[in-house]
Amino acid sequence: MADADPLPRLTPARAWRPRRVLVTRSALDWAHGRGIAERAAAAGIDVVELPTDRLALAFPDDPRRAYAEAKATLAVTVAPPSKRRLQPIAPSADWRVDLAEGCPAHCGYCYLAGSLKGPPITRAYANLPEILAELPPRLGAGTITSRSRSRAHEGTTFEASCYTDPLGIEPLTGSLSALVAWFGQWEADAQLRFTSKFADVAPLVGLDHGGRTRMRASINPVAYARFEGGTDPVAARLAALARMGGAGYRLGLTIAPIIAAAGWREAYGALIADAAAALMGVPDTADLTVELITHRYTPGSKAVLESWYPGSRLDMGAAGRTEKRTKFGSVKFVYDAAAMRELRAFFETEIAARLPRARILYWT
Ligand code: SF4
Repeated sequence: MADADPLPRLTPARAWRPRRVLVTRSALDWAHGRGIAERAAAAGIDVVELPTDRLALAFPDDPRRAYAEAKATLAVTVAPPSKRRLQPIAPSADWRVDLAEGCPAHCGYCYLAGSLKGPPITRAYANLPEILAELPPRLGAGTITSRSRSRAHEGTTFEASCYTDPLGIEPLTGSLSALVAWFGQWEADAQLRFTSKFADVAPLVGLDHGGRTRMRASINPVAYARFEGGTDPVAARLAALARMGGAGYRLGLTIAPIIAAAGWREAYGALIADAAAALMGVPDTADLTVELITHRYTPGSKAVLESWYPGSRLDMGAAGRTEKRTKFGSVKFVYDAAAMRELRAFFETEIAARLPRARILYWT
């Protein structure tokens, strides 16, 4: 598909450059794994081929330095069967498909802090063919969006951003491009979805995506940029989304996490106005979707985040929060009912006014 690209470009601020790339022995058995290692070596990054499949992670004892070293490490590994088995992922999609685990950015609220164990290195999976082989058997077997009256028309949906930001690591991995192209040639009633706080969509715009991929830009007000270290500026993310629209992709906005800090109305009002302005030139935004996710944390994620980002000004106190139990029995803290009502009414009103054709998929 040609990149007509009539829309303005905003160069992404930075491309992730890990300090080292560790490649396990089994990862080298896969062409995709070798490709990642070769790209990293060509970029002048230190590539270490490990003699076994064990990751040798000798990080410093000092937790701050250990965190920094881990975040600067990309490991190329083989996803075991347990990680390849697709799981439902409500409310986003029928199935979760993981190309990697971990993310190089430094967001003070990152949900991965509570869900991934161990040092926060990024693991990119080498055995892409085995990951892709899990998808066709799930076609037509979804229970989340496929059973939703308002979303069943999307076909079986697959979400690729649950345990990583796939666009943030794309220049080195090439995994997201491969997945988009794979969906492009998959003549099926299926849709790939991914969301990102990064903006380098150059590897994706020219792909033959077959209209089966939706990119969402994950956005937050400029005033909260200090909570999103290592990501691309929100204006660049919106420009990237517009560029993807110009290339015929389906588009969406993930406004997340919604943070009810002082001045939130003005901050989010400006954000929605900026999104509307950025998407104005996109040929067809009739299919634009919006996902609204309020800030939440678990006791576990709070403890990890406070150790990673001591002194952060992100409020994770008990005031204005309520405890919610998930169906698996774990606890999370969300804004209380009064705050939720106020926030929700605001977002629904603003989006209806500024992005009247957009479809809100969920509020959580
Ligand atoms: Fe976490 Fe997303 Fe930020 Fe990466 S970009 S650190 S996955 S919140």
